Amino acid sequence: METNHLRLNEQIATAMEMVANTAGFLWNKGWAERNGGNLSINLTMLVSQPFPPFTTSYETELSEAAPLLANNLLYITATGSRMREVARDPFARGCFIQFNDTGSNCTIVAPSGLLPSSELPTHILIQQFLKSQGNGYTSVLHTHPTELIALSHCRPFLNQKYLSDILLGMMPEARMFVPKGIGLVPYQKPGTVLLARATISALVNHDVVLWEKHGVLAVGTNVEECFDSIDILNKSAQIFLSARQAGYVADGLTGNQLNNTAPP
Ligand SMILES: [Zn+2]
Repeated sequence: METNHLRLNEQIATAMEMVANTAGFLWNKGWAERNGGNLSINLTMLVSQPFPPFTTSYETELSEAAPLLANNLLYITATGSRMREVARDPFARGCFIQFNDTGSNCTIVAPSGLLPSSELPTHILIQQFLKSQGNGYTSVLHTHPTELIALSHCRPFLNQKYLSDILLGMMPEARMFVPKGIGLVPYQKPGTVLLARATISALVNHDVVLWEKHGVLAVGTNVEECFDSIDILNKSAQIFLSARQAGYVADGLTGNQLNNTAPP
C-alpha cells in the first residue's frame, strides 16, 4: 500500500511529528478555529532520493507549471481538516504531492482519500518561490493569530514600516528572531492567485506576512520555525494591545536599546 510506504518512511515520519506538534500549538493558541489554517512542507530534501513514484494516486494538471518543483515531493494539509485533527494524525489529515519531471502536473496521494487544501495553488506558487530563492526554506504556514489580525482592522497599522517598528519595539526577542519584521498584503479573496502573488511580493523582504483582516503566512526551514516567528510577532501585538487596554501607549524599545539587540 502506497500510504503504508509513506507512513513507514522514517524521514517522513520525523517531518510529520513536527507537523503534529505545530498543528497542536495552533489549536491550543486559538488560532485555528474550525478548519482555519493550512501548511505545506517540501519534503524533497528530507527524504532519500530518488523517491519511488506514486502508484495508487490521482493525477492533476496544474493551471500553471511549476518547473522549479519538478520531481519534488510536497506534503499539504487536507481540505476541511481541523488543526486539532492534524495534530492527532497528520498522515490521515494530509496529502502528498509528487511533481512530474517538468513540474507541469502532479500526482496526489491522500491516505484518507481527502482532497488537498483549497489553498494548494497558493502553496505551490509560494513553494516554487522559496525554491527560486535558494535559502533552504521548505515550509509554509498559514494561520489566524488573533491580535495580529485585530491590528489589521485599523487603518493606521496598515503600513508595513509603521507596524514592523511597533512589533519589533515591544521586546528584544522580536528584533532578534524576526529582524525583517512583518510584510503587509492588502485584503484579497482567500485562495486566489492574486493573494498568492501579493504574498510572494511581500515575502521578498519578509518571512512573515500579514493578510489584512484575515491572517498570517510565514515561511521557514521547518513548520515549527514558521510557528515561532508568528508567535513572537503576535506576542508583540498582545503587549501593544494590552498597554492600550490599560489606558496607555507602550513606549517601545528606544533606538539605543534596539541597536543593542542584534539578531543572533
Ligand atoms: Zn485563512
